[in-house]
Amino acid sequence: LALPAPRRIKALDQDVVNKIAAGEIIVAPVHALKELIENAVDAGSTALEILVKDGGLKLLQITDNGHGIDKEDLPILCERFTTSKLKAFEDLTSIGTYGFRGEALASISHIAHLSVTTRTKESSCAWRAVFADGKLISPKPGQSAEARPIAGRPGTQITVEDLFYNVPSRRRAFRSASEEYAKILELVGKYAVHCSGVSFSCKKHGDSSSGLSVPVSAGIVDRIRQVHGTNVANELVNFKTENDRWGFKCEGWISNANHSAKRTTMLLFINHRAVDSAVIKKSVEQTYATFLPKGGHPFFYLSLDIEPQRVDVNVHPTKREVHFLNEDEIIAIICDEIRTSLGKVDTSRSFMTQS
Ligand code: ADP
Ligand code: MG
Repeated sequence: LALPAPRRIKALDQDVVNKIAAGEIIVAPVHALKELIENAVDAGSTALEILVKDGGLKLLQITDNGHGIDKEDLPILCERFTTSKLKAFEDLTSIGTYGFRGEALASISHIAHLSVTTRTKESSCAWRAVFADGKLISPKPGQSAEARPIAGRPGTQITVEDLFYNVPSRRRAFRSASEEYAKILELVGKYAVHCSGVSFSCKKHGDSSSGLSVPVSAGIVDRIRQVHGTNVANELVNFKTENDRWGFKCEGWISNANHSAKRTTMLLFINHRAVDSAVIKKSVEQTYATFLPKGGHPFFYLSLDIEPQRVDVNVHPTKREVHFLNEDEIIAIICDEIRTSLGKVDTSRSFMTQS
C-alpha cells in the first residue's frame, strides 16, 4: 500500500497563532470581563463601573479610577506578552497582582474592537487609542495610527465591542444574551464581595438602574447583603483558620445551619483570584450535609491565602484554576473548622431555647 507523501511543515502566521490563543483564553464575554476587572483592581482602583450590551457580545465597558496607563506605553499595550507586572520567571512565586502574562488585552484585541481611554494623574489630559490585532490603529480611515488627546478623568476606560466578530462559529454558539449577562453579574458579584474598599456597579446598556451596586464603604457582610440578599446575610458566621505547617490562612463568611438553599453558592478566592474548585465545593457540601435538611445547600465565601511558593498559578492561561501543594490536608482543615463553627452555633441555639 502506498503511503501518502508527507505534507511539508510550515510555521503558522502570527495572526493565526494569536487568534487561536485568544480563543483559548476568552471563551465567553465573562472571561474578557474577568481580565478587565482584575486589571482595574491591579491598577489600584477604588471605583469600577461596568456597562454591558447583549450579554457582553455587543459591548463590554469598564471604567476605573486607577493609576492609568502612560501615554508612551499605549503603542505596545495590546502586544502579546507585554506587562508591567512580571519581569523574571522567578517573580511568579511572589506575584501580588492578578495579571502577569500580558495576554489579556492582546487576546481581546484579536477577537473584538478594542479602544482605551486613559489618564495618569501626571497627565494634563486623557488619551484615547484604538486597537486591532495587537496593534494601535488609526481611529478613522485617513488618520494616523496614534493615541489622541481627549478630555477625561484620571483612570482608565476600556471598551470592547463586537466580541468574536471575526470568529463566526464562536459567535453563533451563544444562544441567549441574558444567560451571558447572568454569568457576568455572578462574576462581578464575586469581586464586589471580595474587594473591600472598591465600589462596583454593573448595568445593562439602556437600563436606568444597576443590576448590581456596592458602595465603596460597605463591609463584607453588607456586600454579601447587596449581592445575595438579606436572607443569606442574616445567617452568616465569620470563618477563620490558619496553619503554619501547610502555609495557609483562610478567612470568610459562611452560612449557618438556618440557611438552606436549593443550590450551593461558592465564592472562592485563592490568593485573591476568583477560582473554581470542584473538590473544595464538594468537600464543603459534604461537611454541611449533616447540618442541613436533606437537599439543602450552603452559601460560603472563602478567601484562601497560600504561601505563593506553594501555589502554581500558571497551569492555564485563563488562571481559572490554580494548583497548590497539600490540597487534601488544607481542605480537611478548612472543613474541620467549618464543622466546628456550625457545631458551636447549634449548641448556643439549643442552649438559648432551653433557658
Ligand atoms: P497583565 O495584566 O497580565 O499585565 P494585560 O494584557 O491584562 O496583561 O494588561 C497589560 C498591561 O496593561 C498591564 O500590565 C498594565 O500595565 C496595563 N493595564 C491594563 N489595564 C489597565 C488598567 N485598567 N489600568 C491601568 N493599567 C492597565
Ligand atoms: Mg491583566
